[in-house]
Amino acid sequence: MKVLVAEDDLVQLRLLEVTLSKWGYQVLSARDGESAWRLLQQEEGPILAILDWMMPGYSGPQLSRLIRDQSAKLYTYIILLTARKDKESIIEGMDAGADDYLAKPYILDELAARIRAGKRILHLQEELVKAQEALREEAMRDPLTHLWNRRTIFHRLDAELRAAKASGQPVGVILADLDHFKEVNDTYGHIFGDHVLLETVKALQSALRPRDSIGRFGGEEFIAVLPQCGFDESISAAERLRVALASRHIKHGSNSVPVTISLGCTASIPGADHSLEILLRAADEALYESKRQGRNRVSALPVDLYMASLRPIDS
Ligand code: GH3
Ligand code: MG
Ligand code: MG
Ligand code: MG
Repeated sequence: MKVLVAEDDLVQLRLLEVTLSKWGYQVLSARDGESAWRLLQQEEGPILAILDWMMPGYSGPQLSRLIRDQSAKLYTYIILLTARKDKESIIEGMDAGADDYLAKPYILDELAARIRAGKRILHLQEELVKAQEALREEAMRDPLTHLWNRRTIFHRLDAELRAAKASGQPVGVILADLDHFKEVNDTYGHIFGDHVLLETVKALQSALRPRDSIGRFGGEEFIAVLPQCGFDESISAAERLRVALASRHIKHGSNSVPVTISLGCTASIPGADHSLEILLRAADEALYESKRQGRNRVSALPVDLYMASLRPIDS
């Protein structure tokens, strides 16, 4: 664990360096407030800081205020070293943002105990951050398939469209809907239906590139977002998805249950400024064409053709 020690007295600084290193900490030292501030702002910098009160540059309390005023991702635990013992100074130091203080001269056992207390707080913070990240991730996923949920995949598509606008690249969009899935549920039960959904996801994921995103659009409907894929490439990708599922053997007991998917795809046109909604509607229209044509197939609809079809004929 990295610990910052900021102390202008060289003898005291060396003593702290040697002692903390012996205790197993990775010590970063500074002899003035400005160097300390630079060390604290480094990527993966220390999150436990032992700051002398009186230093050139920034004093310990000034540095504490700077630390608290920045919107850092992680909390920095601050121990102030002070020769002042009056209550007012201690209050001032704590109000500036310090978590704890140590009055000079101190014994090393006390320093060790105060660092341990700091580590306990930092450990709690670490757990909290992990839990928050897990919750955030959870909120973005569909609980059954663990794919991106509808809201998240929409955000992804929106972000890809914005990136594509800047780079002049197309984005492919595929909507996929399982064929006669209600029958699967009705014949084999809902639990087997869930299993089929999971197998479908595996098949679809196996046919996508790492930079593609896939989300659960609704019950048995999925959406794939394909960065840098034009219309023809999106059709090929959709065909790969179709084949991946059709050739997968999903077993119920010793029987293989045939499961197929219908797909509709489109792609944004580089330079054109069409909305996420228009792309989704074009892909959906193509998907319905696949259903109408008998299912287990890919249909594609260029987005400009779709938009033209929306205009009244005599306008
Ligand atoms: P089509 O080929 O026209 O798409 O027919 P379909 O039967 O797939 O379509 P329909 O919309 O009639 O039925 C969709 C079914 O998907 C009905 C619903 O119970 C089922 N479903 C939706 N979500 C889940 C789920 O999470 N688990 C299971 N087991 N079934 C689901
Ligand atoms: Mg000093
Ligand atoms: Mg459906
Ligand atoms: Mg369906």
